[in-house]
Amino acid sequence: MPAVTVENPLELPRVVVPLAGDRARRVKSITTAPRGLEGEGFPVRRAFAGVDLADLDPFVHMDQMGEVDYGPGEPKGTPWHPHRGFETVTYMIEGTFLHQDSIGGGGVIQNGATQWMTAGAGILHIERPPDALIDSGGLFHGIQLWVNLPSRLKMTNPRYQDIEAGAVTLLTNDAGDAIIRVIAGSLGDAGGPGSTHTPITIVHVSLMPGAQLALPWPGAYNALSYVLAGQGSVGMDRHAIGEGQMAVHVDGDFVVLSANETQDSRTQALEVLILGGEPIREPVAAYGPFVMNTRAELQQAFEDYQAGRLGQIPADHI
Ligand code: MN
Repeated sequence: MPAVTVENPLELPRVVVPLAGDRARRVKSITTAPRGLEGEGFPVRRAFAGVDLADLDPFVHMDQMGEVDYGPGEPKGTPWHPHRGFETVTYMIEGTFLHQDSIGGGGVIQNGATQWMTAGAGILHIERPPDALIDSGGLFHGIQLWVNLPSRLKMTNPRYQDIEAGAVTLLTNDAGDAIIRVIAGSLGDAGGPGSTHTPITIVHVSLMPGAQLALPWPGAYNALSYVLAGQGSVGMDRHAIGEGQMAVHVDGDFVVLSANETQDSRTQALEVLILGGEPIREPVAAYGPFVMNTRAELQQAFEDYQAGRLGQIPADHI
């Protein structure tokens, strides 16, 4: 799994270790993501299926896109579509997506880069593989995450952030058998490049076989760990977890992850996305591409979209 990596993790700064008296978070649940299809028919796993909204807050939806090895002509994306009331975060671990939106944002997202799009009051966008990749086929693996906005920010101006793979903050543990990529927010005394509207941390960790990690985690944040690949365990009492499963970690100061000694020969590591943030604790009215507080606001979003008030497809569209 490429993402961003280093030859010698021991050259990286260390993540801060828990203090005496800090408590490990307890594992409240482990769920398995069902498979589905998104956009024009690309395979996804619905990472949040079966988890209480209150445990997910401030996140509302997450898909693992792929991992899929496309044949020639097979790669797919999404058509132009609107959003309002939240942010979409696309993290491309392998493969390439082209993005374009109605506020002039756009670019190539690939091999460890993240696109952080604040829909706010309204935006239209498209994500699709480049023509060369459609022709050739190839590996495609990423994450799309929906981050809620509080009512005071739902109608904020739309914004587009390109977080290049090389901008991600890299850390390791004392043993040097973990690579910790801070994409957004802070982790201990380190910070990632992504700018967030509400306090959020997103980290992609690779644990070598047998590695253990205690990640400091703000007490006010929820904590979710989703296994992208490999086999391992979570929590002090080592609940088994594997590819396509998500753990909810509650009550405590740090999150505990361990990689099994034996990993499959293809990935050779436990790959985990860990995310959390301050819960927004507001009513959620979500339908299709809109995440609002009330049904009336959803109705307004549909009317505004129909009237062209969420933006226009640019003339030079891809
Ligand atoms: Mn979208």
